[in-house]
Amino acid sequence: MKKVVLVYSGGMDSSVLLYDLIHQGYQVSTFSIFYGQKHQKELAVAKKFASLLSLQHKLADISNLSDIFGNTSLVANHCEIPDGHYEEESMKETVVPNRNMIFLSLATAWAISIGSNKIAYAAHSGDHAIYPDCRNEFADAMNEAIQLCDWNSVSLVRPFVGLSKAEIVRKGVELEVPLEQTWSCYKGLDVHCGQCGTCIERREAFYLAGVEDKTKYSSSAPSLKFLVANNWRV
Ligand SMILES: [Zn+2]
Repeated sequence: MKKVVLVYSGGMDSSVLLYDLIHQGYQVSTFSIFYGQKHQKELAVAKKFASLLSLQHKLADISNLSDIFGNTSLVANHCEIPDGHYEEESMKETVVPNRNMIFLSLATAWAISIGSNKIAYAAHSGDHAIYPDCRNEFADAMNEAIQLCDWNSVSLVRPFVGLSKAEIVRKGVELEVPLEQTWSCYKGLDVHCGQCGTCIERREAFYLAGVEDKTKYSSSAPSLKFLVANNWRV
């Protein structure tokens, strides 16, 4: 059986990719990382989905290294998570330095250990200019390095790189992914806050896909009508 290690956050994109890889006949092993982010909601979702689908799941805990990431608001307790659209300047505070290289590198080590020669992650066409390690050039260079890091060839694949987030939502519906159970929000509330950068992006994707968003949002979240009228600015 074809094997793949999926870098799996428990978010919407990587959950849809998980179902897509299974649909394609892959034996998927899921790899998640606790790097000291302020909450573990999405990691709990990742564990739950892996368990429901009877998949091998690995959680790498590198939280004792979280101070190397400096003042990113996703990790540092003294930095507030900004609200707003990803294009806004304040969202740069959510950049975790070199996160993708670290994640892909650790996932590669595990993939080699368990005899998988493929690593997948859910980069998509809307990945943002503020995240430099989401650039195609970075992923291409990582793929080249990964292919050289072991005597057996290991490759990095990004099956969603040509898809927008709205197209990923539509694919999730086709594959019957329980999208409302995936977790995106940067804040660790009981429900999605509905106004941080990743919540806004999630809500916009459902809207653009023409798919009903069954995610539970905080009662203080701006309404969909308000967001559409204000061009997704909160
Ligand atoms: Zn949020």
